[in-house]
Amino acid sequence: MNTIATQAPHSVRRYAKVVTEIPGPKSKALAERRSNAVSDSVPVTLATFIEKADSNVLHDVDGNSLIDFAGGIGVSNVGNGNARVVERVQEQVEDFAHVCFAITPYEEYVQVCELLNEHAPGDHAKKSALWNSGAEAVENAVKVARSYTGRSAVVVFRNAFHGRTNLTMAMTAKNMPYKEGFGPFASDVYRVPMANPFGFAGTPEECAEATLREVRTMIDKEIGASNVACIVMEPIQGEGGFIVPAPNFAKGIRDYCTENGIVFIADEVQSGFGRTGTWFAIEHEGVVPDIITTAKALGGGLPLAAVTGRAEMMDSVHVGGLGSTFGGNPVSCVGSIAAFESVERDGLLEKAKNLEAIFRRRLEQIQQRHSVVADIRGRGAMMAIELADDSGPDAARAVAVQKWCHQNGALAIVTGTFGNVIRFLPPLSMSPEVLEEGLDILSEAFDATA
Ligand SMILES: *Cc1c(COP(=O)(O)O)cnc(C)c1O
Repeated sequence: MNTIATQAPHSVRRYAKVVTEIPGPKSKALAERRSNAVSDSVPVTLATFIEKADSNVLHDVDGNSLIDFAGGIGVSNVGNGNARVVERVQEQVEDFAHVCFAITPYEEYVQVCELLNEHAPGDHAKKSALWNSGAEAVENAVKVARSYTGRSAVVVFRNAFHGRTNLTMAMTAKNMPYKEGFGPFASDVYRVPMANPFGFAGTPEECAEATLREVRTMIDKEIGASNVACIVMEPIQGEGGFIVPAPNFAKGIRDYCTENGIVFIADEVQSGFGRTGTWFAIEHEGVVPDIITTAKALGGGLPLAAVTGRAEMMDSVHVGGLGSTFGGNPVSCVGSIAAFESVERDGLLEKAKNLEAIFRRRLEQIQQRHSVVADIRGRGAMMAIELADDSGPDAARAVAVQKWCHQNGALAIVTGTFGNVIRFLPPLSMSPEVLEEGLDILSEAFDATA
């Protein structure tokens, strides 16, 4: 089962092209420079160096083309080389690259906030503020919730990932590699169970009910609801393994927050910006959060993050309490404006739903042949398969499949608390034929590693 079948190089399909071993000689030479110059602590999934990319494939320095299942970890929703983004970014760089919004403002920052307020769920008055990374957005959402409520406790879920800064490390569940050796962590962060239907002995509805009961009891008895500033939830857990909460779990959490004056924060850093076929994944739950954090795809490929929330909450912080030197950088802002335009005018929400249909059909076919595919889940272009057998999670098989895909022209990536989940985050603009070819490669990978 652990034998990794490698095919001879030089496999040329329509889109995936493998003309050298992967990584090729030029990548290997660069990898040597990398290991001399770059800290060993920075991880790499596949050490093939990229020269150019579009919505479908990544072209490496050796002339290989890999079908992009990673989307830069859910960043490239509108695709690399998106013409709308390229044009506006080039213009903006010429006009000005930075002045600092807190010193002298510019219209592009305001426009991104307007777009976020308009697209975030709920018809209440909303306001936004901008930062550079997802972790920063989550940190600042917590600051807003604490300032607004005058309370300090933060409640997060099992399997959660919220970032790598001190507070967000405390909020993140998985020790290795995110937290090991980096303590002490921020205090007053409490972890409660997530309603994960996979592996639950009962129906998804029973899973939601039982987990909700447990969460309510834990908060009431162990923390005290009146001490809780916010509950932070990923509407689909990303790094934790693309876990879609059992039906009505998010609604139950929302209701508990409302009953207890707790701010409900949806961390949509990975699941947002059209990824699941709606602007925000929380819309599938019919739930309106008080605050939403976004980053990853928000800048159209450029670094940008935001906190969007009820106006009275966002305004509760004293003047100067929120800010950032680079936050809402004008080049990133125009990337974001172009990305909003692309999702709307290029029909990317619809395209994400079409990709989901292809994923489900093809992944089910693989599952019929390979019982190790224990679960298929996700929404829109945020899909995953969990590999497990009778003895539990099968991380070795996930790694073998991943490696075979890499050597045959598809950039597959693995995630999950047990490292046994293969996840798919292609650009929403990926063409269906390319996705089909990528899934041909995945399917062959399962046969070859059986
Ligand atoms: C990636 C991610 C973050 C952290 O974003 P960075 O930009 O890497 O700081 C936070 N929350 C979720 C849900 C994420 O997926």
